[in-house]
Amino acid sequence: MAKLAIIGAGHAGVEAAAVAAASGVEVDLFSNEGVLPYFRPRLIAVACGQAEADTIAIRKAEWYEQRGIKVHLNSEVTSFDPATRTLVGNGFGGRYDAVVLSCGSLPLQPRIEGAGAEFPFTVLWNMRNAMALRGKIVNGTRLLVIGGGVLGVEAALRAAEVGACPVVVEMQPRLLRTALCATTAAVLTEQIIAAGVEVRCGRSVQRFRLLASGNVVATLDNGDEIEVELVVFSIGAAPNRKLSQAAGLQTDRGVVVDDFLQTSWAGVFAAGDLAQYHGGVSRCAVRDATMQGKSAAANAVAFINGSEMTPYVPPKPMMMMKVGSVEAYALGEVDVTDDEVAVRLDDGSVRRICRMLVRRGDDVVGVQMVGSRDGFDEACEKWSGK
Ligand SMILES: Cc1cc2nc3c(=O)[nH]c(=O)nc-3n(C[C@H](O)[C@H](O)[C@H](O)COP(=O)(O)OP(=O)(O)OC[C@H]3O[C@@H](n4cnc5c(N)ncnc54)[C@H](O)[C@@H]3O)c2cc1C
Repeated sequence: MAKLAIIGAGHAGVEAAAVAAASGVEVDLFSNEGVLPYFRPRLIAVACGQAEADTIAIRKAEWYEQRGIKVHLNSEVTSFDPATRTLVGNGFGGRYDAVVLSCGSLPLQPRIEGAGAEFPFTVLWNMRNAMALRGKIVNGTRLLVIGGGVLGVEAALRAAEVGACPVVVEMQPRLLRTALCATTAAVLTEQIIAAGVEVRCGRSVQRFRLLASGNVVATLDNGDEIEVELVVFSIGAAPNRKLSQAAGLQTDRGVVVDDFLQTSWAGVFAAGDLAQYHGGVSRCAVRDATMQGKSAAANAVAFINGSEMTPYVPPKPMMMMKVGSVEAYALGEVDVTDDEVAVRLDDGSVRRICRMLVRRGDDVVGVQMVGSRDGFDEACEKWSGK
C-alpha cells in the first residue's frame, strides 16, 4: 500500500488526511502537539474559559481510527529529505511515496523594550498558550491586547464577555484595517467599545515596565500609561518554514508551491498557512487551509498513482467575525479609491448596521458588512475578484 506522510496536524493536515485515506492511501499524520488536532479559532474561547479543550477537536479519535489514519502526537518531524521523501523525528522515521507539509505558521512577537517571553506576556496560538491563559482572564482582569486584527479583536471581545477589562492597542488608524474601510470600521468599533473593550487606534506601545506586583505598565507613544495584569500579542503570524528551509525546499515568505500545491521537489506538497501560492502571502484562514489540504492530498495521491494532477482553486478571500452580537464580514477591496464608489445597501437607520458594496464601474470589487450578514452571500456571488 502506498504511504503518505503529513507533517503538521492542523486544519490543512486533517483535511489532507481525510482525502488521502479515502483514496486508499496509508496515512501517517504527525503532530508536535500533545492533543488531537483542534479548531484553532476556538482557542480564544478555551483561554477565556468559555469552552473546554476537549470540545474543540476537529475530529474525534474514532474518526481517525475508522479511516485507518495513524495520528502521531508529540511527534515533531525534525528533519526531512525531499529527494527520498524520508523523514526523521525523535525515535521515529520512515520513507514515503509522497509528503504533505502543513506546519502552519508561528505568531510574530514585537520587539518592545521591557517585553519578556514569559507571563504576563503571551501569545495565543496553540493549546499550550490557551491552557496557560485559562483562569487568568476573569471578571475584572485588566488585559492589554497588542494588535487590532480579527484575532486581537475577538480575544478582547471574548475577554469582555467574561467580565475582563481589555484594552486593544492598534498602530493602524482603525481596527480590522486589512478588511474594513473607515466607514464600516467606525460602525464596528462603536459596538466593540459598547461591548466593554477600550480601543486605542493609531497608537503603539513604546515600552513595558514590570511592577513588583506582577502587573505591567505599558507606555504608549503619546505618553499614556496603561497598567494591566496580562499582555497578549496579536500582531500576525509568519509561515513556519524551519523544517522546509533546512530540507532545501524553495522558500520565500512561505514554502513556494505551484498550481498543484507541489513544492520545488516532486512528490512533496505544501498546504495551509505554510504554503506560498502564486506569490501571495498566506491569509492565515481556516477555509484556505482546509481547501489547500484537500487539494494537496488529492494531488499527492495523483502523484503516487501517476495520474494527472488538478490545479488548486482558491476560495474567495473572505473575512468573517462574530462574537455575541458583534459581527463583521468582508470580501475584496477595503478602501474606496478615486475610481470606485461605495454603495450603501441599508438605509442607515439602524446605527449598528452598515452594509456596503465597493463598485468600480459595473464591477463589485468589495463587500463589507457590519452588524448584519443579510445579503452578504448574494453580494459575494457578484464579486468580480478584481
Ligand atoms: C487564536 C486564533 C484564532 C484564529 N481565528 C481565525 C478565524 O476566526 N478565522 C480564520 O479563518 N482563521 C483563524 N485563525 C487562523 C487559522 O487558525 C489558521 O489559518 C489555520 O489554523 C491554518 O491551518 P494550518 O493547517 O495551515 O496550520 P495549523 O492549524 O497552525 O496547524 C499546523 C500544525 O503543525 C504543527 N507542526 C509544525 N511543525 C511541525 C513539525 N515539524 N512536526 C510536526 N508537527 C508540526 C503545529 O504545531 C500545528 O499543530 C486563527 C488562529 C488563531 C491562533
